[in-house]
Order: sequence, then structure tokens, then C-alpha cells
Amino acid sequence: MLYSIKIRASKDGNHVSGSERIVKKEYLKKVLNELVDKTYIKDPELINIKIEEIKIKPLIVKKTLEIKEHQFKNVEESKRFAVDIIHTATRIKKDKIYELINTVHLGSSPDGSNMRGAMIVNELGERIELDKFRGVRTTTVDFIDRDRILKRLKDIGLTNRTADALCISTKNMLYKDMTAEYCISDEADYTVGYVSVKGEYHRLNPAKEYGNPKGGRIYFVRNNIDIYDFYKFLQETPVLIEDVVVD
Ligand code: AMP
Repeated sequence: MLYSIKIRASKDGNHVSGSERIVKKEYLKKVLNELVDKTYIKDPELINIKIEEIKIKPLIVKKTLEIKEHQFKNVEESKRFAVDIIHTATRIKKDKIYELINTVHLGSSPDGSNMRGAMIVNELGERIELDKFRGVRTTTVDFIDRDRILKRLKDIGLTNRTADALCISTKNMLYKDMTAEYCISDEADYTVGYVSVKGEYHRLNPAKEYGNPKGGRIYFVRNNIDIYDFYKFLQETPVLIEDVVVD
């Protein structure tokens, strides 16, 4: 029996920590403890935990997207690289892609703050997410044996954070009408981002300026996408990944 665990912590009304896992029943307590320990570091006022049996048969995926590392002289160079990759995958005009990426660097919610989820952009460069303040969140995806994967990632200098991002992006790119993804963190001191296309996850270092508290994700999709089916896939279809692919 599989369970989904979702944990969110907040302080002064602001979100400070959040994690999600898919685990077998026998590991539920162990993983729950680990996640609670992780949120304690942030001195939360409120911890919200949701544990739910997974009733839908998970999609088992053999491999993540292939991780490719890129070092850039500066953020401009990294943006140029991301724009080229996204342009090839989506055919959206480069100027428009720059504009969309810059929106994420400035805060992609209409009020200039960070969104909780991702923007969705079609081939015309139009934003089509159903709620422009919240965006869409990808959930219910994990590694089958997370500890083993974390060890492999740590061996090549990568962390939990990359494991999470790699899960999200690997799930996203399974959807047939999704063509690319761009992401920068909303943590001011974490400047690595990524751009994904089918089969590939390009780590961009640096992707944003140090000290910028704005971050977000853009999901690039085809014009004829069934948006409701896309939301349903991202939010409800359980995905379990067996292994990572390192360049
Ligand atoms: P993070 O990668 O956790 O630093 O998040 C960076 C940004 O990506 C956030 O500000 C959100 O806009 C977006 N985001 C975070 N988690 C998700 C998710 N599960 N699905 C879609 N977008 C997300």
C-alpha cells in the first residue's frame, strides 16, 4: 500500500518549508519523522501534514531526465542559453521568451510576488494557467528508493533540492503536450536554475542574480493542449521514478 505525505510549514503567515513524498506503508513513520525534523529547522508556527492513501496505480518511470551541467560567466549568458533551448523546443520568438523569463525574475504573480505554482505558456507565448496568482503545482511524484538516489546525487555534488526538482521536471516532461520548462528558485541565496526539454535537464549555474528573492517556473505547452487534462495529470497522476541519469 502506498501513501502520499505532504507537509507544509509556515511562520508569520508565510510559507517556510514544504516537502512531499510517496512511501510504502512500512516507511510512513520513518519518513514522516525525517520530514518533521526538516521543518523544525525553520522554527515553524504551523505545520500542516496530509497523509493520503494512493488509490490510482502509479506510473513507473525507469529514468529521470538526463542531468547536464552548465557553468556560465554571468546570468545574461545563462539566460541566452535557456532562450535558445526553449526556442528550439517551442518555436516561440526569442524576444518573447526573454520577456517571459524576465517575468519570473521579477515575480510572476500579477501583484509582482512569487507564485506558489508554475505559469503555463502556449506556442504563441500567451499565459494560459487557470489562476495567474497561484499557477499550477506538480505533485505526487517521487523516487522509488529515494535514499539510494540521494546518495548517487550527493556523490556528484548534488542535493535534496535537485532530487525534488528532477522529480517534478521528469513528471512534467512526460506529458505529451509539454515541450519545455524553465525554473529559478525563490530563495535569494540559491542561484542555480534549470531548463528542461524532452529527455534533458540542463542545470544553469548561475541562473539568477544572488540576493533576488523572486523565482518561479514556466511550463511551455502546445496550443492544442487539453488544459484540464494537463492539470489532472500534474496534480493527480502518481509517478514513481526508478533511477537518475547523469551526463
Ligand atoms: P523552488 O524550486 O522550490 O525554489 O520553487 C521555485 C518556484 O517554482 C516557486 O516560487 C514556485 O513558483 C514554483 N514551484 C515550486 N514548487 C512547485 C511545484 N511543485 N509545481 C510547480 N511549480 C512549483
